Amino acid sequence: MIAFRCWYCGKRYLVAESRIGERLKCSCQNLVKVPKKNHGYSRIKKPLDYFVELLVYGGGGALLGFGFFLLIVIRIPFLTRLSGRRWTACAILMLLGFLLGALGGERGINWLGRKIRDREQG
Ligand SMILES: [Zn+2]
Repeated sequence: MIAFRCWYCGKRYLVAESRIGERLKCSCQNLVKVPKKNHGYSRIKKPLDYFVELLVYGGGGALLGFGFFLLIVIRIPFLTRLSGRRWTACAILMLLGFLLGALGGERGINWLGRKIRDREQG
């Protein structure tokens, strides 16, 4: 069974797992979607939501890419001397971060964050 709440009014629902992905009309008149897991997200995403998510995760990924760049430049002395190419490397890493965040969403961001942490420790 999947337990979830209406994203709009908070009404509780408990439905069979065979109904995952199904849309239903809540008593508050809004359409909600049966989430894949318990207490999942029941809101039906509109194109604008995907766009905002892309910006948020892509932006976060780009920031992480920039962090990754700073880490590399600070740790590797020889790279700091390549002043011109440094910014190219920075742009590439930020772009990679953006793509990773935009395509991978939360998972992509977490993966990138883990890579940075690994590098900090190692
Ligand atoms: Zn509702």
